[in-house]
Amino acid sequence: MNNTDNLSKKITILIDAGHGGKDPGAIGHNGLQEKKVNIAIALQLKKFLDNDKIFRTILTRNNDSYLSLKTRKQFFKKNHVNLLISIHVDSSKKRYVSGASLWIISPSRMDREINNYLKNKNSDILFAESIQKVFNENKNDLFLKKTILDLQFSNFQKIEFDLSTHIFEQLKKNIKLHKIELNYASLGILSSINIPAILIETGFITNFWEEKQLNTTFYQKKISNALYLALKKYFSFTLKSK
Ligand SMILES: [Zn+2]
Repeated sequence: MNNTDNLSKKITILIDAGHGGKDPGAIGHNGLQEKKVNIAIALQLKKFLDNDKIFRTILTRNNDSYLSLKTRKQFFKKNHVNLLISIHVDSSKKRYVSGASLWIISPSRMDREINNYLKNKNSDILFAESIQKVFNENKNDLFLKKTILDLQFSNFQKIEFDLSTHIFEQLKKNIKLHKIELNYASLGILSSINIPAILIETGFITNFWEEKQLNTTFYQKKISNALYLALKKYFSFTLKSK
């Protein structure tokens, strides 16, 4: 195997730090802004992944800039990405609520997105090469296209389930979990029909203790390292079993 082979076989992780610029995200009682925690964890996670030869990374933002949802979604329309991981911090009116949680797209939202794609002939979404080929050869076969997209979505769900098991396992060694179950949401950032996507709420900025912790490099590193180890475990296993 030569170097170019190695590069093309790398797992591409798109890291999305939530909010940024004029959008601070949630704000803690002591003034900590969610956007700052998100970018810190995203940059650390990038470092961990880039130091590992099986991964390459793309960031939706690498500084304190504001990105619209549309701009964020351009990244996975135009790049072949194996996984999107979006990083956020939660908030609650109840100050005692704390802990991390994981979110994936709700099936009903994904249904809607797939149907919208099929109705809209000008969609410029980049699919995996093999799927793109079938789509090009069967431009007007909506039934076939829908079947493929539905199958792909169940495969993505499986990836998200398996991966979340690894993430929970790593996180619970290091930080408090809010819930040890995946949550479903109709979130725009998770709604892309061509890549699996998972969103982590790393803790509650409205909890006094977690706001303090989330502001430290030590605690941020615990989270980014846990995410890295989970990705490593999941993807080295799937690579081996190919
Ligand atoms: Zn957020």
